[in-house]
Amino acid sequence: MAAEAAAEAGASVTVVDHMSSPARKLLIAGRGGLNLTHSEPIERFLDHYGPARARLAPFIRAFPPAALVAWCEALGEPTFVGSSGRIFPRAMKASPLLRAWLARLTLLGVTLKARHRWLGFGADGGLRLATPEGEAVLRSDATVLALGGASWPRLGSDGAWPALLPDCDVAPLRPANMGFVVDWSGHLRARFAGTPLKRIALAFEERTVRGEAVLTEQGIEGGAIYALAAPLREAIARDGAAVLRIDLRPDIPLAELSRRLAPRARGVTLSNHLRRAAGLSPAAVALVQESLHAGAAADDLATLVKALPLRLTAPFPIARAISSAGGLAWAELDEALMLRRHPGVFACGEMLDWEAPTGGYLLQACFATGRAAGRAAAAYAISAQS
Ligand SMILES: Cc1cc2nc3c(=O)[nH]c(=O)nc-3n(C[C@H](O)[C@H](O)[C@H](O)COP(=O)(O)OP(=O)(O)OC[C@H]3O[C@@H](n4cnc5c(N)ncnc54)[C@H](O)[C@@H]3O)c2cc1C
Repeated sequence: MAAEAAAEAGASVTVVDHMSSPARKLLIAGRGGLNLTHSEPIERFLDHYGPARARLAPFIRAFPPAALVAWCEALGEPTFVGSSGRIFPRAMKASPLLRAWLARLTLLGVTLKARHRWLGFGADGGLRLATPEGEAVLRSDATVLALGGASWPRLGSDGAWPALLPDCDVAPLRPANMGFVVDWSGHLRARFAGTPLKRIALAFEERTVRGEAVLTEQGIEGGAIYALAAPLREAIARDGAAVLRIDLRPDIPLAELSRRLAPRARGVTLSNHLRRAAGLSPAAVALVQESLHAGAAADDLATLVKALPLRLTAPFPIARAISSAGGLAWAELDEALMLRRHPGVFACGEMLDWEAPTGGYLLQACFATGRAAGRAAAAYAISAQS
């Protein structure tokens, strides 16, 4: 996006990427449905960026969700609003959009150099590159760094760039939108790894989120977990573990569930009782039993079903996370996303210090900051030439 914005502003643009083809993460993001952005009102949309809201807001207001939708549709990919308000290209995947986008960049005169890895700044400020022909130096009037975070490193963004900016303050890259480790019993792991928990509600601190999660060999992950991942991660870093509460039947009030679960007919096993009276799935029954084995009180099953405690001991590794928290500190950047210590060098996207839940907030902020950085870099380069 930075390249497109800079080229449209009249700059001559070269994109370097160390992978053999560009935008690998965008392509993977499209595998489960490319959630471009969200249709909610802009103030609520911006609230999802938490402490980074104030710094990201000007860029997102200048290139809001409606502008991203218009951009996508102008590339020949109509969009639709899903039932949750999330916006997707109708094709769902990213490949047709990327093809059309790369063709537009070619028309704009943008040159793409694949298999070129940025190694840092040379003594004179040039860009040191590892190329298939050996090391080279690229000189530019302005540079945009869009090196990504550190999740899914095999797609290109390997989180190695902080070492290339040793004079800049970088908040450590941490997993965001990820699962958590749970010390399951061998039985639960063997029988239920890979099983979804549908229509549940999760509560942590003052927040409750409805959605789905998946039990895995190592723990639990999925959309509802991702939505609480930031406070859970911080609590684990602070306290060593965090207790998440799962409401396995959020649509049944506690009193009604207590009434249904109170009498257990003689000869009916606990799992059959939970299945019949509370309508729990086999995986949900196993979670209740796991909790009872760990010492939860058996005399108030309804409360256990409505607020099952799950002890999370660690976030999943950043390599498996959807995105990263942390990145280049905002204090390093001026209002136009230029690095204060490197005049003419701009930065954008996930490498900046912000995080957001899934729902289209990640790509929207990347596109909006990319566009702003590209425009500012073009203005800088053009003024440097004149
Ligand atoms: C499985 C998955 C699904 C996702 N789904 C969604 C979704 O539906 N909606 C959403 O909003 N977000 C989604 N995301 C997140 C979203 O894809 C990212 O936030 C976004 O791609 C980040 O964009 P970026 O341009 O900042 O970084 P990236 O897309 O990571 O691009 C960084 C680029 O920099 C290159 N690079 C890194 N270091 C160097 C170097 N030293 N020299 C040269 N090149 C270098 C990399 O090769 C890469 O091409 C998903 C992520 C994953 C992993």
